[in-house]
Amino acid sequence: MKFHSHMNIALTQAKLAADRGEIPVGAVIAGPAGVIAEAGNRTRELNDPTAHAEMLVIRAACAALGQERLTGYDLYVTLEPCPMCAAAISNARIARLYYGASDAKSGGVAQGPRIFAHSQCHHVPEIYDGIAAAASQDMLRRFFADRRR
Ligand SMILES: [Zn+2]
Repeated sequence: MKFHSHMNIALTQAKLAADRGEIPVGAVIAGPAGVIAEAGNRTRELNDPTAHAEMLVIRAACAALGQERLTGYDLYVTLEPCPMCAAAISNARIARLYYGASDAKSGGVAQGPRIFAHSQCHHVPEIYDGIAAAASQDMLRRFFADRRR
């Protein structure tokens, strides 16, 4: 199915992030013509606390299209977006958000500040959670287990 193949690309980006020593989170933006951008977390490499996979993939997709909004496009990310990324997803007018594992510690969609449920949130995407959640969770668990060694 379409959303599974796109989430597989996001998982590959998460794996590449782990290989770079970054927390393994990957994201993809796809439209009617298919995938237009993919990215993994690069906060350490770029010395940038905003360089989450979602922020980077939104920037790349907007740059590729030469526009500030992604109306009609879908975002796939391996982990529940944090509040910053959820706000960016809203500002970008993403049509559908597909995410993998939930994030009890830093998530901002189904827990914490629940950005999309806030009265100041001007655009709410359709949200589908738990897509390939086990694969995403396993990668995160392995990453943090290795770092504790
Ligand atoms: Zn984020």
